Amino acid sequence: MDAILKGLTEPQTEAVTHLDGPLLILAGPGSGKTRVVTHRIAHMISQGIPASQIAALTFTNKAAEEMRARVENLAPGKAVWMGTFHRFCAQLLRRYASMVGLSENYSIYDTSDSKQAMKRAIEVAKISTSHTSPEQIASTISNAKNRLVTPEMMLSGAKHSGPTMAARVYPVYQQQLLTANAVDFDDLLFHIALLLKENPDLRSELDSRFRYILVDEYQDTNLAQYAIVRALSIDHPNLSVTGDPDQSIYGWRGADINNILDFEKDYPAVKTVRLEQNYRSTPNILRAADQLIRNNRRRKHKELFTHNDEGDPVVLRIYENGYQEADGIADEISDAIQVEGLRPRDFAILYRMNALSRSVEHSMRRRRLAYQIINGLEFYQRKEIKDLLAYLHLINNPKHDVAFQRIVNTPTRAIGAKTVKRLREYADRHHIPMLEAARNVDAVEGLAKRSATAVKKFVEMYERMAIKATATLEDLLRYVVDETKYEAYLLRSVVDQQDSSAVANVDEFITAAVEFDRYHPDDGSLELFLEQAALVADTDAFEDTSDRVTLMTLHAAKGLEFPRVFIIGVEDGLLPHSRSKDTDSGFEEERRLLFVGITRGKERLQLSCCKTRNFRGESRPAISSPFFNELPLGEMKKIESERSLDFFDDDAYDDSYPESWDLPDEDTANDETPTDQGGAGGNGFVKEKKEKPMFDEACQLPEEELKEIVQRKK
Ligand code: ATP
Ligand code: MG
Repeated sequence: MDAILKGLTEPQTEAVTHLDGPLLILAGPGSGKTRVVTHRIAHMISQGIPASQIAALTFTNKAAEEMRARVENLAPGKAVWMGTFHRFCAQLLRRYASMVGLSENYSIYDTSDSKQAMKRAIEVAKISTSHTSPEQIASTISNAKNRLVTPEMMLSGAKHSGPTMAARVYPVYQQQLLTANAVDFDDLLFHIALLLKENPDLRSELDSRFRYILVDEYQDTNLAQYAIVRALSIDHPNLSVTGDPDQSIYGWRGADINNILDFEKDYPAVKTVRLEQNYRSTPNILRAADQLIRNNRRRKHKELFTHNDEGDPVVLRIYENGYQEADGIADEISDAIQVEGLRPRDFAILYRMNALSRSVEHSMRRRRLAYQIINGLEFYQRKEIKDLLAYLHLINNPKHDVAFQRIVNTPTRAIGAKTVKRLREYADRHHIPMLEAARNVDAVEGLAKRSATAVKKFVEMYERMAIKATATLEDLLRYVVDETKYEAYLLRSVVDQQDSSAVANVDEFITAAVEFDRYHPDDGSLELFLEQAALVADTDAFEDTSDRVTLMTLHAAKGLEFPRVFIIGVEDGLLPHSRSKDTDSGFEEERRLLFVGITRGKERLQLSCCKTRNFRGESRPAISSPFFNELPLGEMKKIESERSLDFFDDDAYDDSYPESWDLPDEDTANDETPTDQGGAGGNGFVKEKKEKPMFDEACQLPEEELKEIVQRKK
């Protein structure tokens, strides 16, 4: 007990020792909100509340892991449920799958899977996309799910001009998902929210099962998440939420800041605790953050003070160009490590878009600085891993049509696109999964004998694999790799792909399977493995124990802290991002994003911009961010770099933005993968401009966790 309360401030103690009834912890960055959540869990357990009645919902898997480790420290061996909303829902759905027409081995479609399913639904619904795009339709459907609008509701809400295209596609898409025994990311929350709404018995059963619910980063919850925690806190309103409206940065994904602002209205009996002491940052950093955020009109001001040392002034640095910016920062880090004895892990370089990391990476490599980058070239998104995962998916769920289409001719086995199309049409006509159509290949019209034979051979191979479904994951995976001669296939295609790491990735995947078997000697199942793979979040590869400089987007940095922080590319059009700056709400969200970045810093902070920046290989003048003028410039240290000529000796050294430069900011939040995985709006189709007013109704469902991370070990 002493250990639990030791060193806490009075308001922190008040929050930690609060037991029953709703609790709102409203406080600025670095004030110990997350710390309070962990200590509160430990305290509740020490007061005799069974661990099994507690659920702590976090924004990322990483946050959940950290929380688990800390609770374990304070209250060893207690099985409290901790994880993200999506994982929470995925597990509940596993149990109640039949209530929504799924079976318990349902698959979670990742973003690119959903995209394929959507295309097929559009085809089946016979919608012409000449006046709209599949992306737009998908986005409308995703928004609808987020607002808990069912296909029937959307159809009945259609204007007299007839149902919209999205309204026509929506039921077809949902039906296809059901046929495939699959859900998309939006569905995880959507199904559970609706289940709770429509089944009072289940709702009250789960309400008493999870009597104590804690939500961190509540300012970034969306309507579906709100509905879920609300439904679970009626008979036992022991809901405690923690958040900072100034750090709400997922409006573009449907997060609704009103969820936190209205908490006191929703729960009139609420106890509200405000934490005002910041433990993280120097006064210099805090003043910069405070001055900036005061410019947001739609906010309630919060006082924040700290007893930390004054520290160094915040640096505002103007570089000639992106090369200099990257090199300058790498030099500084390198010097600090050598001279001041700091460690690489003490530094973070934050940016608005992943594209900005490229030049930094180059500079880090040249100085042999160890770094980890959290971005889109994700392990689970690599072609070879997706192929093997698709085999596992199909073994786990024979109705998984997206997996079927991916692997039926991978490695190539003479099953052409036409054959696949015939199988798909047959499946659509008979409302059966494609594997079923393949089993009936003799009944499928228009197939050459050779193709039919190839399909039969595939089905036979599949049946052999399916028998192995209950083997250990390692055995199963090795069997799949051998049976499909997958490595030989990779080696054959290596020349074209110029990618010799593919085979190594397969080995890495087998290692992951071995580890999974080891961690789950009793409860390991193919299903669980696939669920974990589907729900890995972008910040998961962030290992704060690893001694590397961290490169990440501002979005991904939420909740974290580093002794020294560099925020690069603080330029007009980048931060604020050109796609968000035209609306007040968009502009204010960009400001909050910079606020989040600034408040990650513990000791030192540098914000930088460049005079020119390369854009598609062309150097263009860059303008510093309008946010600069909102900072306490008088007390900051402004450094303008001298032009230097020793940079342009290296062709490979390029900070040009890739094509994704002109994609909307939505996809830049955490990543810009070629496969569209993650960071996107719950369905992978976010490449359209959309206005998302922060204070209006939630408009897009956040799928928080769609990404996987790569640690590029240099
Ligand atoms: P954010 O809004 O950025 O998520 P937060 O409010 O969740 O911030 P924490 O991450 O919980 O803040 O705490 C910030 C830092 O301050 C952490 O390093 C934490 O350990 C430390 N801290 C918080 N409270 C105390 C305390 N009472 N004594 C010592 N350190 C503290
Ligand atoms: Mg926190």
